[in-house]
Amino acid sequence: MSKIVIVGGGIAGLTAGIFAQKYGFESEIFEKNANAGGECTGWSRNGFHIDNCIHWLTGTKKSTELYTLWKEIGALGDDVEMVEFDRFYTSFFDEKKAVLWRDKERTRKELRKLGRSDGKAIDEFIKTVTALEKLEMPVEKPFDMMSAMEKMKLGIAMFGALKYVKKYGKVSLKEYAGKFQSPLLRQFFQDYMDSSFNALSLMTSYASFTAGNGNVPKGGSVEMVKRIAEKYQSLGGVIHTKSAVEKVEIDGTKATGITLADGKTIKADYVICACDTSVTFHKLMDRKYMPKQLEKNYEKLKVQSAFQASFSVDDECAFIHNTEVFPCREITIGKSIFERMSVKSYWYEPKFSPVGKAVLQVHFTQTEDDYEYWKNLYETDKNAYKKKKLEIAEEIILSISAQYQQINGKIEVLDVLTPYTYNQWTGAYKGSYMSFVMSPKAMEQKNLTGIIDGLENVVLASQWQEIPGGLPYAAAAGKFAVQRIAKI
Ligand SMILES: Cc1cc2nc3c(=O)[nH]c(=O)nc-3n(C[C@H](O)[C@H](O)[C@H](O)COP(=O)(O)OP(=O)(O)OC[C@H]3O[C@@H](n4cnc5c(N)ncnc54)[C@H](O)[C@@H]3O)c2cc1C
Repeated sequence: MSKIVIVGGGIAGLTAGIFAQKYGFESEIFEKNANAGGECTGWSRNGFHIDNCIHWLTGTKKSTELYTLWKEIGALGDDVEMVEFDRFYTSFFDEKKAVLWRDKERTRKELRKLGRSDGKAIDEFIKTVTALEKLEMPVEKPFDMMSAMEKMKLGIAMFGALKYVKKYGKVSLKEYAGKFQSPLLRQFFQDYMDSSFNALSLMTSYASFTAGNGNVPKGGSVEMVKRIAEKYQSLGGVIHTKSAVEKVEIDGTKATGITLADGKTIKADYVICACDTSVTFHKLMDRKYMPKQLEKNYEKLKVQSAFQASFSVDDECAFIHNTEVFPCREITIGKSIFERMSVKSYWYEPKFSPVGKAVLQVHFTQTEDDYEYWKNLYETDKNAYKKKKLEIAEEIILSISAQYQQINGKIEVLDVLTPYTYNQWTGAYKGSYMSFVMSPKAMEQKNLTGIIDGLENVVLASQWQEIPGGLPYAAAAGKFAVQRIAKI
């Protein structure tokens, strides 16, 4: 029986492990952290649970190929309860608010009231979202392994959506929002993400939400990872935690195995690098193996991270629906200045907090410059780094209290993460929490197959192979890596 060793026990690595076992290989996963899951994780603080990852999971609609994949790896299933929010996000502007409802007609009606001269643009938005609901991520097999007939079928299925992909893939959120007359709607559309993302990213995410294809599994990230890891182990797979890999051993054009940080060598017939691609090509093997496309992406495209603060509140906070964005006191985080902030309440997960209380989480986008700021601060003065994080968290409490006066005086800091934390946790390049930013420029780049030129038996499995990354891309990359090895 041929043996596959997998470096990294994130979603890509675990998925690769499951398919390796299914296709008749012997496999072992080596994960540097104490738990599998990678960026898809969560942890406890003072009796509260902080969920680090799933805000929405694409592929929750049962008729999609992606749902079948989630089900195959144990992430979702008939016995996994889903949280179905009635709104994607809400933006507040002084006395007014705008909402992206699950019910698109309600969204249309309300946005038309807010932007009376923007009727045509709002109708076009809803029409585009409706067309994009049909856009599905193909995960049966890698595109280049599909037959001509399979490619044609895919093209036909996506036909109605493709013209919108082309049109809005080229437009940044900022440019798109600028087309609206109403200042309120201009802000509303930019509240989704950093405005360098393209308009398509907002439209596809909202479309998966309205189509019932972007819900949240109850129990969150940790419970989902637990189910996937158990599935892998039930198929005979072995996960070694606290087992950092130092090097992929290469002899000519073949890898012979891996060496761990403790010096132990593991022999293998195939190696799947399912860790961050910056770890693969800066640590595990010579940089010369880095695919040209990836090199180009690192050079030309941006990545994005987050400053994330979590708070405990002495209130259930059920009045905060999914994510809410509102004006805040001006705040500097890293090198960036913010005048708006977004808050998420975990009221729908009673197990995350003691009875009558809740966890609130706040995210601020961080750039590569911000990452450098936090890294420098940590490396020069750990105490100053810690103090700065807490100072910012206390400032955030003031803004939350001003927005939701009913919880004024009831909020306490639970935990604060910077882009540097993400980097230290998984090796994430510049603390990035997905892959490259889905900007208009990113649309011109090709996806990576995972094949490494010059190495016959090493394959990549990582969210970095496709833009913008995220859980579905990580899972697909894990499956595809094994299909390439097994030639299935
Ligand atoms: C705050 C946040 C929110 C997010 N929200 C969402 C969301 O709502 N929806 C969504 O789809 N996605 C979301 N994501 C993105 C999602 O978490 C990632 O896309 C996905 O988890 C990446 O999986 P991966 O397996 O490719 O990489 P990783 O999770 O990075 O896994 C790689 C693994 O390799 C391990 N590793 C690294 N170096 C070594 C080494 N030398 N030896 C051994 N092991 C090593 C790491 O510890 C890690 O466990 C979010 C991410 C973050 C951080």
